[in-house]
Amino acid sequence: MNEPARAKAAKPLPKPAPESVPYWEAAKQHRLELPKCNACGKFWFPPSQSCPHCLAADFAFTPVSGRGKVFSFVTFHRVYHPAFAGEVPYVVALVELDEGPRLLSNVVGVTPDKVTCEMPVQVVFDDVAADVAVPKFKPV
Ligand SMILES: [Zn+2]
Repeated sequence: MNEPARAKAAKPLPKPAPESVPYWEAAKQHRLELPKCNACGKFWFPPSQSCPHCLAADFAFTPVSGRGKVFSFVTFHRVYHPAFAGEVPYVVALVELDEGPRLLSNVVGVTPDKVTCEMPVQVVFDDVAADVAVPKFKPV
């Protein structure tokens, strides 16, 4: 790494691809919105230029419930980035939303030893910067 050492490391922020800008703009306002196909009616994630179910390019970012369940998860005990040093152990989970798509995120508000697969969760938003909020999930 050629990056100069800093007194306090900052967490990396999302760098949205053009297809993901509406997702992050909604998250900034604490709304979870995913692309929904106007042809077949299905949601998907991550955002892309056409529906992965039917290939239609006619879709709109649409609010979802923010409710789902833990599909799978891992607990990180090791620090892979200095900005996360104060957070281990933490849970990285694949959350399956009630609408179907799965999001990679964190489960927060509970100790890692209490997280289980199928655990019902609800989205919460972590304002990680003045103009960036990251969707995370807490137990219902
Ligand atoms: Zn479709």
